[in-house]
Amino acid sequence: VSVAVVGGGIIGLSIAWRLVERGVGDVTVFDDGVDGAWKVAAGMLAPGGEAAFETPALVRLMSSSAQRWPSFAASLGVGVGYDEAGTLSLAVTADDVASASREWDSPVLRPSQLRELEPALSPRVRAGVHLPTDRQVDPRRVVAALRSRLDDRVVAKRVSTLDQLDASTVVVAAGCGTAALTGLPVRPVKGQVLRLRGEPGLIRHVLEATVDGRSVYLVPRADGEIVVGATQEERSDWTVTAGGVYDLLRAAIELVPDLAECALAETLVGHRPGTPDNAPLLGTLRDGVVVAAGHFRNGVLLAPITADLIADLVISGVADPLLNDVAPGRFA
Ligand SMILES: Cc1cc2nc3c(=O)[nH]c(=O)nc-3n(C[C@H](O)[C@H](O)[C@H](O)COP(=O)(O)OP(=O)(O)OC[C@H]3O[C@@H](n4cnc5c(N)ncnc54)[C@H](O)[C@@H]3O)c2cc1C
Repeated sequence: VSVAVVGGGIIGLSIAWRLVERGVGDVTVFDDGVDGAWKVAAGMLAPGGEAAFETPALVRLMSSSAQRWPSFAASLGVGVGYDEAGTLSLAVTADDVASASREWDSPVLRPSQLRELEPALSPRVRAGVHLPTDRQVDPRRVVAALRSRLDDRVVAKRVSTLDQLDASTVVVAAGCGTAALTGLPVRPVKGQVLRLRGEPGLIRHVLEATVDGRSVYLVPRADGEIVVGATQEERSDWTVTAGGVYDLLRAAIELVPDLAECALAETLVGHRPGTPDNAPLLGTLRDGVVVAAGHFRNGVLLAPITADLIADLVISGVADPLLNDVAPGRFA
């Protein structure tokens, strides 16, 4: 077998690496060098997700992938920032508590208990829960580790048509670029994200919150970086807007007032590869062409299971039952 993977984002690289590990020698990844969603992604690994966005097939994939993350991270062999402190889901106003508590099914913690876990929290935070299995990883470190493992198998090249590739199997893992290559319904969903830099340890957990009706999350890395995200807009432009930054910073500083002292290190836009039902497109498209795209809000979480299932499919030709409800042709 020879395999050409189109797209060197977190999904394409994970698949390529799994194929190589499983003994497929002839694997080439083509990447056009445009930063994919992985560069912007916060790296929350939240298998519980948000019920409103997820179908049962997607929930199964998410929980199975979350279980695979510890060994996936360990096998990358370098620090990829996989962190098990878990997430605090928080609410600030009485209305925020009312809406957030519909999603909470663990014991609700009082403000004093929350501040014991997370001393920098604002006294305005009224309630929250600890979600120990909602973890995080640093997607930039994951991609760097995968790239260095795949080394000269990654070729800097834009693929404009699948016919130009000379391989027995082509895997299309091009994120938002998948639509142009296959005609499949993958659309860009814009997200603005900020990176702050402060004292390491200022925040200990991933924090996700509703602050005066607005959703915000803070993902603290061990080196003092704090990712603040994210807007969700049905747009494909790359503009960082004043309103986007204002909303994110206002909510973040309401939640953790000391963030006002941090450096604003980066403002970035990324595009989530969305699909009509928010579940990815995984499986055989036609003879010799396999698709692994459309991971929307959860591509980092779903990288390990996507790599395992797609490598199995390429090597054995047999689709795992987990792929039944996420076939790429389901919208035809
Ligand atoms: C703001 C934001 C926050 C997010 N937060 C999280 C999170 O906390 N947790 C989580 O699990 N997920 C998160 N995501 C989602 C996650 O980033 C994506 O689902 C994931 O990156 C998809 O991976 P991918 O490899 O399919 O696509 P990408 O990461 O977009 O990579 C696609 C790659 O393919 C290349 N490419 C495209 N077309 C071509 C072509 N024709 N030829 C050659 N190369 C091509 C691109 O240059 C790119 O390198 C977030 C996304 C955004 C935008």
